[in-house]
Amino acid sequence: MQHHVFQCLDCDHQMIGRDMDGRLCERCKGWLNPIRHATAVEVNDYLREKARQKRLAAMKEIPFNLNEIVKVKLTDHGHEILKQQHDELNVMIHARGGKGFGEYQPKVDADGYTTFQLWSLMETFGPYIGMCKDEPFNINIKFVVNESKSVRPTEQTSP
Ligand SMILES: [Zn+2]
Repeated sequence: MQHHVFQCLDCDHQMIGRDMDGRLCERCKGWLNPIRHATAVEVNDYLREKARQKRLAAMKEIPFNLNEIVKVKLTDHGHEILKQQHDELNVMIHARGGKGFGEYQPKVDADGYTTFQLWSLMETFGPYIGMCKDEPFNINIKFVVNESKSVRPTEQTSP
């Protein structure tokens, strides 16, 4: 069946659909009247807008605190950055007569992920992230969210 343009008898708002039987004006709930066939462009725009609305409705906002945990898959470059920062810290500690932390040991779980508090991930890799830069970790990351927590720790202020 072909798409028609329907017009509201009360407010003149126009809607597009195949069969608007039983549907009322989305603005004023007035009756709809078919006035003409819809053009291909109109139908295309209408369907695209409908898909956009559907995507928006499926979006969910998750409160997340900088102190909470994220998991990332570090690249070799990411490990190099961590090793370099580890080594620099060791040099500073040795210079002050401390023992230091020994060799850099990559911490990776069985699934290949490394865990950070979000603030630490930002602090560590912030300067290394950007267009045309070698990725320190895969851009698909995991936010670890405790869904059973009724009150989220949004009141915490500093790391
Ligand atoms: Zn109306």
